[in-house]
Amino acid sequence: AINLEGLHKRFGPDSVALDGVDLTIHEGEFFTLLGPSGCGKTTLLRILAGLESPDAGRLTLGGRDITQVPAHRRSVNTVFQSYALFPHLSVRDNLAFGLRMQGVSKAERDARVADIARFIQLGGLIERRVDQLSGGQRQRIALARALVCEPNVLLLDEPLSALDAGLRGQLQVELKRVQARLGMTFLFVTHDQQEAMVMSDRIAVLNGGSIQQVGSPKDIYERPANAFVARFMGHDN
Ligand code: ATP
Repeated sequence: AINLEGLHKRFGPDSVALDGVDLTIHEGEFFTLLGPSGCGKTTLLRILAGLESPDAGRLTLGGRDITQVPAHRRSVNTVFQSYALFPHLSVRDNLAFGLRMQGVSKAERDARVADIARFIQLGGLIERRVDQLSGGQRQRIALARALVCEPNVLLLDEPLSALDAGLRGQLQVELKRVQARLGMTFLFVTHDQQEAMVMSDRIAVLNGGSIQQVGSPKDIYERPANAFVARFMGHDN
């Protein structure tokens, strides 16, 4: 499990991003952080990824305290909204890049890239340059690149928000399938209630850097814990 205890983060006297977050995310769970713009979702993800340090609090992964562990030693990988791919490199080289950084041999890199390409059904895309691909294709490559490193935990920061509705629905299904097959823990960030409802095992609703409610989609929709959650889930009339 991932455990967050008393996480605080501020970016200045008037900017409290996280105001004491306690949360447990179970192994193999599809867990979603849901909340409006500025509520602290990305900050929480960046702290988990090791890209930002908390001002106070502790985080553990599988019982191990990782609060001070550097990003590349956490077995946590991230898929960002902006893809963060190398546009001038081929899909193959993009997928192999992280493995090369980890010192994985050429033979094993080739085998793992081939495996993941089959799994995500990249087919004919593998030799193409990323700058010749569509947004949806790039998003699948970004996912493949995170998965090829076989992290225990995958963090996804609004990975589908740049896509049109049709493609978005398709990739929602694909993400669920990949997560179920691999049994990996997914921590997914979105501001979209519908997306959270269809994708998640459990949801944490955030506002102003604090968790308002944690529960199953059904719980949160049917039994909102407070007026904010009720309004945010669309019970405004
Ligand atoms: P969005 O959905 O718009 O991405 P979010 O829920 O992910 O929002 P965060 O990006 O975590 O929210 O931001 C939380 C708060 O912290 C906001 O008030 C934001 O302005 C502030 N903040 C985040 N990063 C920084 C930074 N590097 N410097 C200053 N303030 C920051």
